[in-house]
Amino acid sequence: MQDEDLDEEELEIEAEALDDETSYVCQSCGEDIVIPIDPFAGANQEYVEDCPICCHPHVLSVHIDRDGTITVTAEEE
Ligand SMILES: [Zn+2]
Repeated sequence: MQDEDLDEEELEIEAEALDDETSYVCQSCGEDIVIPIDPFAGANQEYVEDCPICCHPHVLSVHIDRDGTITVTAEEE
């Protein structure tokens, strides 16, 4: 019975993490860039994205915590 309770809690957390977004600061122009996060793509994601302001490419490392907290690290490519 206790296991069932844990499962329900986990589902709630996943639902809260859906359709989320976060932001990073562009290393080139200093703008705060908001990016959408797809929680279905995994807890750890890494991809290259061009800054929409100055087109400077960044390697974004996204980590989604178990409690739904999103951490993003942007490094110049
Ligand atoms: Zn930029």
